[in-house]
Amino acid sequence: MGLAVLIYMYGTVSERASTAALNEQAAVFTPAAIPPLTQTNTQTPTQTPTPVTYANVLIDPGHGGEDNGAEVESPAINEKVLNMTIASRLYELLKKDTGRVRVTMTRYSETTVSRPRRVEIANETADFFISIHCNTNEASIARGVSTYYQTHEGIDKPFTSKELAEVIQRTTVEATGARDRGIVYDEELYLLNHTTVPTALIEVGYLTNPDELQLLLDYDYVNLLAEGLRKGILEMADRVIAARR
Ligand SMILES: [Zn+2]
Repeated sequence: MGLAVLIYMYGTVSERASTAALNEQAAVFTPAAIPPLTQTNTQTPTQTPTPVTYANVLIDPGHGGEDNGAEVESPAINEKVLNMTIASRLYELLKKDTGRVRVTMTRYSETTVSRPRRVEIANETADFFISIHCNTNEASIARGVSTYYQTHEGIDKPFTSKELAEVIQRTTVEATGARDRGIVYDEELYLLNHTTVPTALIEVGYLTNPDELQLLLDYDYVNLLAEGLRKGILEMADRVIAARR
């Protein structure tokens, strides 16, 4: 574990200070049942290398800080806050699975993190990488879940980005009952183009569909999304662990 990883894991004073600002913003529309976001990674540095028996997964709450992501006006919602709400719940759930997975996030609060920095963190620290987003469409009828991937040819990993996308898509659709829009090969998305570890970018629903937006603002539905993502992540974590034996 390099110094950069430690600095990342434990964050900075300014990042922690702005957590309060995020929670304040999230409180505008998220149910009180969502616990306040805390960064309590259980990993500790060690001088003696021991066999790694878990997978390192990096969760990316899309956008953040100065980058709002998609915006809808009624109710006034920024994608970045919804992404963080879902990612935070997923983070809390995965902390119970430390025997199989160690989870970190690209951001823990409303800080601006560049896409190159997100890629750098993934490539330096993660066995695989999941980026969480919400979609929009001019047609308000559009709804459902889709997962984007790129091929990573020649990368020595236990599975491809496509396989990761397939599993995450399946478990998320099963958990939520959302419309299955399938996996999508995409050559344009920066994160997918620049990571060297299996990467999937999931669009969990459409902010522009009034019914789906209401679901995304509902804690029970956020919990279902997080449970679905967790299930897929654990399935892939087990494959990472099996490949190390
Ligand atoms: Zn987005």
